[in-house]
Amino acid sequence: MISFVGAGPGDVDLITIKGRRLLEEADVIIYAGSLVSKEHLEFSKENCEIHNSASMTLEEVIDVMVESEKKGLKVVRLHTGDPTIYGAIREQMDILDSKGIIYEVIPGVSSFTAACSAIKKEFTLPNVSQTVILTRIEGRTPVPEGEDLEELAKHKASMAIFLSVQDIDRVVEKLAKGYGSYDFPVAVVYKASWEDQEIVLGTLGNIAKKIKEKGINKMAQILVGNFIEGEYERSKLYDPSFSHKFRLSSEDKFRQGSEAK
Ligand code: SAH
Repeated sequence: MISFVGAGPGDVDLITIKGRRLLEEADVIIYAGSLVSKEHLEFSKENCEIHNSASMTLEEVIDVMVESEKKGLKVVRLHTGDPTIYGAIREQMDILDSKGIIYEVIPGVSSFTAACSAIKKEFTLPNVSQTVILTRIEGRTPVPEGEDLEELAKHKASMAIFLSVQDIDRVVEKLAKGYGSYDFPVAVVYKASWEDQEIVLGTLGNIAKKIKEKGINKMAQILVGNFIEGEYERSKLYDPSFSHKFRLSSEDKFRQGSEAK
């Protein structure tokens, strides 16, 4: 069996219980060495075969999977965060499909939620934004038309920008154009949940300077939006005057009480 497993953002305890069990039972682990904490490997069996995919091609990764599968071994393909986001797992799965090899995908805690937890905010606030955009700036990998940061910024939704901190000047430029202002809250979270995590808070106007001063140019989330700072309305879910399936409003409770009398 081949299992694609989300390792989580860094802290080894942020993997799922299912993911940890698979790691403990694996005969072969192929891990994405550039971003996955090596500490995860300490949970593997003594005789487990370990490959670092950072120095391998797609074909080499597939070869290891196919050969191990033939021998009836348990393979874990360990990806950072959640494997379904910028994990490059689709191309692996498609080849496995074409060879009739069965696999499973175990989700993980993505770095965008870990980053938001690190700054202790909530992406989705009533009247501020009920939408989260996960995106990146184009680099060597292009971004389809209509998904340019400037266009996305126009929605004023909460944003988590992956793979882009090395291009902070261009990111800021595009976002400011889209928002029509440099006065927009930004948080850059470097290595969310790792021991050397760093949080830099600012605005589109000053964030680039701040993170350059700290030397942050990789492995960071750029979170942008009014969810980081400013006013919001409290949620209806916990509002005493609002009933829902699981809780009656104070008014309904009063009514029920008087009906019972
Ligand atoms: N699948 C991963 C993303 C892989 S792409 C996930 O779900 O998180 C790699 C990018 O993710 C990095 O360039 C960075 O933007 C972000 N990233 C990964 N781990 C991170 C962490 N611990 N803190 C902040 N950003 C991180």
